[in-house]
Amino acid sequence: MRTCPYGKWGSRAPSILCIALVDPIQGPALRVLRDTVPALLSSHLRRHASAYCALLVGLAVTGVAALYVQRGIDERRNRRFDEAVREGTLGLQQRMDMYQAMLLGTRGLFSSSQQVERDEFHAYVESLELPRRYPGIQGIGFSQWLRPGELEAHEAEVGAEGLPDYHVWPEGERAEYTAIVFLEPLDARNRRAIGFDMFSEPTRQEAMRRAMETALPAASGKVRLVQEDEADTRAQAGFLIYVPVYNGTQPTTPEDRRAHLRGFVYAPFRMGDLVEGLRFPGFQGTVDLEIHDGAETGPEALLFTSRQEGPWEEGARLGLYREVPLSVAGRRWTLVFAARESFIERNSQLQLGTVLISGLLVTLLLFLMTRAQVNARAAAEAASAEQQRLASEARTAVRVRDEFLGVAAHELRTPLTSLKLQLQLLYRQLRQPGPLDAERVERGVESCERQTTRLSQLVDSLLDVSRLMHGRMELRLEALELGEVTRELVRRFETDAQSAGVRLTVDAPLPVQGRWDRLRLEQVLTNLVSNALKYGQGAPVDVRVRGDGSAAFLEVRDQGIGIAREDAERIFDRFERAVSSRHYGGLGLGLFITRQLVEALGGSIAVVSLPGQGSTFTVRLPVTGPGEEAEGTAPASEPPRAPLH
Ligand code: ADP
Repeated sequence: MRTCPYGKWGSRAPSILCIALVDPIQGPALRVLRDTVPALLSSHLRRHASAYCALLVGLAVTGVAALYVQRGIDERRNRRFDEAVREGTLGLQQRMDMYQAMLLGTRGLFSSSQQVERDEFHAYVESLELPRRYPGIQGIGFSQWLRPGELEAHEAEVGAEGLPDYHVWPEGERAEYTAIVFLEPLDARNRRAIGFDMFSEPTRQEAMRRAMETALPAASGKVRLVQEDEADTRAQAGFLIYVPVYNGTQPTTPEDRRAHLRGFVYAPFRMGDLVEGLRFPGFQGTVDLEIHDGAETGPEALLFTSRQEGPWEEGARLGLYREVPLSVAGRRWTLVFAARESFIERNSQLQLGTVLISGLLVTLLLFLMTRAQVNARAAAEAASAEQQRLASEARTAVRVRDEFLGVAAHELRTPLTSLKLQLQLLYRQLRQPGPLDAERVERGVESCERQTTRLSQLVDSLLDVSRLMHGRMELRLEALELGEVTRELVRRFETDAQSAGVRLTVDAPLPVQGRWDRLRLEQVLTNLVSNALKYGQGAPVDVRVRGDGSAAFLEVRDQGIGIAREDAERIFDRFERAVSSRHYGGLGLGLFITRQLVEALGGSIAVVSLPGQGSTFTVRLPVTGPGEEAEGTAPASEPPRAPLH
């Protein structure tokens, strides 16, 4: 016992307690775990290596496929987004070009006629079918350029055309005036704008100047259209496009253009209505659009936004965000496109999820199939090994049985032959004339008795084996003194020992009491002593009896041929022998029966031997006898057994 320097057990504490106390990781249960788990794990891994390989390969392939698909998804999503952006930009561009072309066409109306009548203009605009062919446009108008001094005459002239309340507004002295003379369709909204001097307002003025000086269509910056209701909080941002109209032929220099300016054909736009009219099919409510006036984006410049939800971070994070410049009638716009969550979801999840799920399922299936295959193969191998083992056992059993039958036949024939000879001799003597030689007859009868005893011993051992094999051995326990039983049994061998010249002694100095079955004890002693005489080569045989209170020890020692180390265990088995049957007779059953009996009495038997130096057989028997369940009664009339050889 190791000593423990710690804890309340002091120096006598068992080391296992000490281990548990000092280091919980090394506690007995955990130590067992620590020792067995890695071994179990490694044998499991080795056995299922191919299944785990399949699992790893499957997972790797699924991972690579998922990456590949993810890349494909990203690419396709980007491509779709780019298509949506292109479609939106192009749609807006075409629409704006179309409006400008229409305004240039309207300028043609004014260029071709010095005086365009109100009805004429109305008919012209009606023929354009604005709501159907130019959705988003608020109307088409003409704003006349008025030089100082022309204002009064102009108001009078227009008033005479059936608009008695007509006046140019806002009021006030200005160097130049413009006045909206025509605006069709002349609905309630547009009627509000008649007479308005757009040149009085800086944003519009900038565009008008640009149009005048370049002789090209010019778009204004962001304005609030006069058509919008003052109180309307949902008013849309607007802008206008101006196309200059000159008197006479087209002037070529800015000064000429200013000098010959007659007015502007123009169109006001409400941004919401304009974009609404575009209806980009590619967007399908999944891409947001913002239109900013100028190169910078910001709330001041915001012309239109379709954004309803939160920020655009997710789209921007995935690269689904574009800022695209667009030139509209000499003015730069910035279009901002960003994918909504719905666009990202619609173009991402499904396929990747399908690939991952099906990949994992296929991998799992592969793993399970491979494992099942491995298990099936292992089971088949185990079954075949078991079959081979059984077949080999069966072959051995057949060989042992055949050998035994040969030996048994020989063993039985020897006393039978000698019995037959003796009987023939006796018969001849009986038939001989003259008086019987009583001494010779007596010797013959004695010899016959010896041979029949021998035969009955052989048959008894065979019966004993059969009983032992079928578990029919019964014990009759009683209080016995082992020394006394031994001495009495050994006495029966004295004649045999003397005639063989063997010194046979019993050393049993103290009584050893116990509860045993006398007949079985005698059988054990008989087998061991007769073996010692048989294999003892005439050397002394010593029998010793000792006890230690709980067990009795019976030792039979000879100095004969001894037993090889490799045979020491097997000689206790049925039919097992370690000598040639040519030199020594015997069935190989004595030690088998001895061990069975000793074990039935709750004890054990062992041999220590060296070839050529003798053997010592030691039997250990508990003094209390075997467990209660082994106790029973055996017929008291059963005779004590003689040696089995
Ligand atoms: P048997 O003596 O009939 O062959 P046993 O079962 O009594 O059968 O013994 C089995 C074998 O053990 C013997 O054949 C012999 O080889 C060996 N054996 C038994 N007792 C001794 C002994 N005292 N010395 C040497 N060998 C022995």
